[in-house]
Amino acid sequence: MSKILGSGEKAREALLYKHIGKAGNLVHCNLCSHYCIIKEGGAGKCLVRKNIGGKLYSLNWGKSAGFAIDPMEKKPFFHFKPGSRVLSFGTPGCNFRCLNCQNWDLSQAVKEGGKGALDIPTTTPAQIARMAKENMVDGVAYTYSEPTIFYEYAKDTVEACRKEKLDMFHVFVSNGYFTKEMLEDVVKEKLLQGIRIDLKFINDEKYMEVCSGHMQIVKDNIKRVHALRGKISLEIIALVIPTLNDSEEDIRNLCKFVASVGKDIPLHFSRFYPQYKMQDLPPTEERTLLRAREIAKEEGLEYVYVGNTNLPDVENTYCPKCNELLVKRNGFSIEKNVFEKLSGKEKKNPKCPKCGHKINIVL
Ligand code: SF4
Repeated sequence: MSKILGSGEKAREALLYKHIGKAGNLVHCNLCSHYCIIKEGGAGKCLVRKNIGGKLYSLNWGKSAGFAIDPMEKKPFFHFKPGSRVLSFGTPGCNFRCLNCQNWDLSQAVKEGGKGALDIPTTTPAQIARMAKENMVDGVAYTYSEPTIFYEYAKDTVEACRKEKLDMFHVFVSNGYFTKEMLEDVVKEKLLQGIRIDLKFINDEKYMEVCSGHMQIVKDNIKRVHALRGKISLEIIALVIPTLNDSEEDIRNLCKFVASVGKDIPLHFSRFYPQYKMQDLPPTEERTLLRAREIAKEEGLEYVYVGNTNLPDVENTYCPKCNELLVKRNGFSIEKNVFEKLSGKEKKNPKCPKCGHKINIVL
């Protein structure tokens, strides 16, 4: 499974690729929707998958740039295991080139810093599983950069946690550009219990201009993950960027799309701050974010949040039917959770304690 590279480091052979061409040394990567065709000696768009001798290798396997213990609310996941703690990590490399990336020093490390960006000590999946156990976390979050492009590392980590018999969940914080082949593998192996997807624009040109990806692929993956409800929880985040996607029309179109997939999908609007190559725009005005929340509600969305601000009461969960306060959040902490003491059947099928309406939340 592994090969010694020139640097003396071991690289893991990639999953989800095919040999193509007569000579058999061209490879076709099926991990993300760029579907790169890579010549011998070449790398894919993510710069962390390389064709060596006609085989595809994952160069960022084991290359976590660091670890943190986070509340789930920080990811943000509000409707999956509220109040739980996760071990978070990510590796260099990304399949997007977002001009406003807030983790660009990690996601774009290979592009900006060259191959040296991967010269970091290896942390094996077994070590991560032990770390998770020692820190008594509830789950592992694959995050900071795009987890799709360190899929082998993530998958091996899930398996290492299973080997240690750790009863933990695993979630991806993703740009939604994975392939249906990857999602099929996730389902077949029961790897993930939650995926939070960024829906960055509701306009394909902007998606390409700012992120180097196509909108429809992300929309299709949102539909695919939603179709897996009961197995994988879905939440969506939309970063609202002044002048780029903050018009009434764009926000309404985005909300219409989410509502057409499922009105009970949690939608988080997030405040933009100048980052990376997008320093010329101001932070999003709070009134724009509040208007976005109003539009989402007008379009029938049931769980809408505003993040990255100090605005009060915009991160609480209310019953969509009777408006009862169900989960009160303050920053990343939970001050009230009406579901906290539920067990057995009630925990599996949470309902509003006041009106009995079924609530889309996994406890
Ligand atoms: S993960 Fe995506 S960007 Fe990277 S090689 Fe595969 S298809 Fe290309």
